[in-house]
Amino acid sequence: LFVESRIAQGARVQLSDAQQHYLLSVMRVRDREPVLLFDGISGEWLATVDHTGRRTCASTPLEQTRPQDGPTLAVSLHFALLKPKRLALLVEKATELGVHALQPLVTARTVVREVSLDKLRATAVEAAEQCGRLSVPLVLPPLTGVEACLHSARGAVGSHVFACDERPECTIRLDDALAAAAASGPLRAAAFVVGPEGGFAPDEFALLRGGAQLVSLGPNVLRSETAALSALSIMHMRM
Ligand code: SAM
Repeated sequence: LFVESRIAQGARVQLSDAQQHYLLSVMRVRDREPVLLFDGISGEWLATVDHTGRRTCASTPLEQTRPQDGPTLAVSLHFALLKPKRLALLVEKATELGVHALQPLVTARTVVREVSLDKLRATAVEAAEQCGRLSVPLVLPPLTGVEACLHSARGAVGSHVFACDERPECTIRLDDALAAAAASGPLRAAAFVVGPEGGFAPDEFALLRGGAQLVSLGPNVLRSETAALSALSIMHMRM
């Protein structure tokens, strides 16, 4: 379970209402049974559940079971906003695939323009707990426009910004682009930019051409979330 507060050996950790419900009602965990905790900073800890009081606590982290792992390859995903169900799927699967930061984007053809960052964060926490990673991806506030997106993507990772686009002129495949990038030195960070269902508008495409490396994810036109997850799964094999 992910806890917001820093874990220290012997210090009681208060669990959220949702975590208490999960432990007691879903997992049927009993008093003094073991539970694993992580805080994104100090690794994974074995703790015991204490629900004798008014609120359930995972008390007394006993010992560290895994040290904190830093990302070998920090990947950020900058994606045009999607409808809530597709967005939740994207955040869940991107977290499983080890994404380091997620940033929603409003572009010319983005239909959905509102997002609850709290919901996205909650989805990312659940997915991180489920898949066993020891960190929760950063969910960054949304940006408007491709220029702002490129600035953010470059700031986060230096020069390896890959803009995914289905146009025929995007002839370089992502896996080839990654191999070429890795040939000139170890790849430590990369950012991916993925457009909305209606694709990037021509002026946005021109900006992407100038500020990122355009890449193809194969011959088919993929839905936005499929495109993002396809890019991340190719990347995941390099982590
Ligand atoms: N412009 C298109 C249209 O409306 O027919 C489709 C856009 S596609 C559904 C959504 C996004 O997924 C694109 O903006 C692009 O970022 C990404 N994408 C989809 N297929 C891709 C492919 N084969 N290669 C690279 N990116 C792709």
